[in-house]
Amino acid sequence: MSFWETTSLKDMTTEQWELLCDGCGKCCLNKIIDDETDELYYTNAACHLLDDQSCECRHYDDRFKYVPECTVITQENIASLTWLPDSCAYRRLYSGRKLASWHPLIAGSKALMHQNGMSVKDKTVNENKVRYLEDNIVLWPLQDIE
Ligand code: SF4
Ligand code: SF4
Repeated sequence: MSFWETTSLKDMTTEQWELLCDGCGKCCLNKIIDDETDELYYTNAACHLLDDQSCECRHYDDRFKYVPECTVITQENIASLTWLPDSCAYRRLYSGRKLASWHPLIAGSKALMHQNGMSVKDKTVNENKVRYLEDNIVLWPLQDIE
């Protein structure tokens, strides 16, 4: 069995925890919360550091120098990060689900994730080019298969 099936999230090593990330890039999209209803909306406006082809952060190791508000996802705060998409590997395991078959750890690469439309590849605009986030609300980040 693989480490994510035998080790609880809280007992994972830092290396295992980092490996869990599927690299979909959805968490790097700007989101809007409705003041009155608390409802969360995803937009296709991506953080300016996100590479829209690899779906990776261009400055991951020193990203806080450029984006101080970037969130670190940890074993301690995963329970409170309810804005993460349902397809997020951390959310899936935290809620008792399995990793999806398209997850790079299972599929062997990011190709199947991209093919299944589970990443942000080719779907985003740079946040710096967006005037009103409200005009860029999209539903596809909420999609989860399996
Ligand atoms: S949504 Fe989750 S799995 Fe996808 S890149 Fe963000 S942290 Fe990683
Ligand atoms: S700084 Fe990097 S990891 Fe953080 S939201 Fe932007 S692209 Fe994503």
